[in-house]
Amino acid sequence: MRRYSAFAIAREALRFHSGWARAWRSPEPKRHYQVIVIGAGGHGLATAYYLGRNFGIRDVAVLEKGWLGGGNTGRNTTIIRSNYLQDPSAAIYEKSRSLYETFSQDVNFNAMFSPRGVIMLAQTHHEVRGYQRTARANALQGVETEFISPERVKEIVPIINIDGPRYPVLGGLWQPRGGTARHDAIAWGYARACSGMGMDIIQQCEVTGIRSEGGVVRGVSTTKGEIDCDKLAIVVAGHSGRLAEMAGFRLPIESVALQALVSEPIKPCMDCVVMANTVHGYMSQSDKGEMVIGGGTDGFNSYVQRGSFHHIEETVRALVETFPMISRLKMMRQWGGIVDMTGDRSPILSTTPLGNCFINCGWGTGGFKAIPGSGWAMAELVAKGAPGPLAAEFGLDRFREGRIIDESVAAGVAH
Ligand SMILES: Cc1cc2nc3c(=O)[nH]c(=O)nc-3n(C[C@H](O)[C@H](O)[C@H](O)COP(=O)(O)OP(=O)(O)OC[C@H]3O[C@@H](n4cnc5c(N)ncnc54)[C@H](O)[C@@H]3O)c2cc1C
Repeated sequence: MRRYSAFAIAREALRFHSGWARAWRSPEPKRHYQVIVIGAGGHGLATAYYLGRNFGIRDVAVLEKGWLGGGNTGRNTTIIRSNYLQDPSAAIYEKSRSLYETFSQDVNFNAMFSPRGVIMLAQTHHEVRGYQRTARANALQGVETEFISPERVKEIVPIINIDGPRYPVLGGLWQPRGGTARHDAIAWGYARACSGMGMDIIQQCEVTGIRSEGGVVRGVSTTKGEIDCDKLAIVVAGHSGRLAEMAGFRLPIESVALQALVSEPIKPCMDCVVMANTVHGYMSQSDKGEMVIGGGTDGFNSYVQRGSFHHIEETVRALVETFPMISRLKMMRQWGGIVDMTGDRSPILSTTPLGNCFINCGWGTGGFKAIPGSGWAMAELVAKGAPGPLAAEFGLDRFREGRIIDESVAAGVAH
């Protein structure tokens, strides 16, 4: 695989861009792989990438029922932060955030990581106390955050109205190295690097069954035939419950739709990410100038990857007091993705009742930011057969043992 570089761009410019190779191969599946990863979203591709990079395991197939990055990875609002409350969460999200800082160099693909800063607004006294507590926890965890005054919020975000009659801004939790990245580029970058290592990424290949023998996984049935494997990683976000059923176990997961929308492009007016969790809304501005807006999850379970009109109204209505300027913006597009929610709003990276079968899910509304860290931890789990320090607390057994990792404040709605 040829490296992307400034020199390569100059060379291709001189020959009318006729020399670029395909970013990844589209092979037919082999009969057997050492590891099969189900799901070519960010988490599945990152798992495969770190299996190769950190453990030298390259006999890997990533099976995807649609197109790679076409699930939640290509549908999210790209917020990256690590200001969680509990120590295990801060550790994995901060690892992830730090891997985003060097993603483009490491994977040799421009991820457009933009550490523009993230503010979570405190608009009730309860939130003020909650975020002050989080800021102190983050200080102990070595995660750089700060609780800032309403005046400082206004300084960072001039378009904000801090004197709203219903929900005035009382302060905010500010993470200066949080930000955004190009979501497609994360999937594409990992896919290209995996393919370059000789791994097979097989699109349009739905897993329809999981085969086992003596309580140990043997392979999968797919729309492209039977494929055997020594180890299996299930990394399918909102479809985790269905795959777990095929493997013969149940998950404490609910699948619900989460929606987002973007406005027409306007001149640069906000150079950080703002989340208003009390009113269920968050906003950033894309490089194209669109205001990228998200809200809360749908109030019912479903597998429907669609947007709905009432959601536009609810989300924009919620934000308009704090951002009066959006009342005059035209909204251009909306969409939905299926997110996988656990009761404690923390992910699952775990061994399963089926031998050599591992699962990574439950990132809910906030897993984009976790992709590199999750892939790193999942690769270790799959390679060694037991979790390393980053994944140790996120096992399925925590639900049986009541060891929940409560992140409802950090992850309740916002990402
Ligand atoms: C509207 C919206 C906004 C969001 N905003 C943010 C945000 O700002 N910040 C943040 O951190 N997170 C955000 N998220 C959450 C984030 O997108 C997800 O947590 C993350 O992308 C999950 O990645 P994944 O790789 O696990 O899942 P996906 O990208 O969904 O990948 C799973 C893949 O598995 C495939 N699959 C499913 N079943 C099968 C099968 N049987 N066989 C083969 N393949 C299968 C699917 O087709 C899919 O491609 C948002 C989500 C949505 C929907």
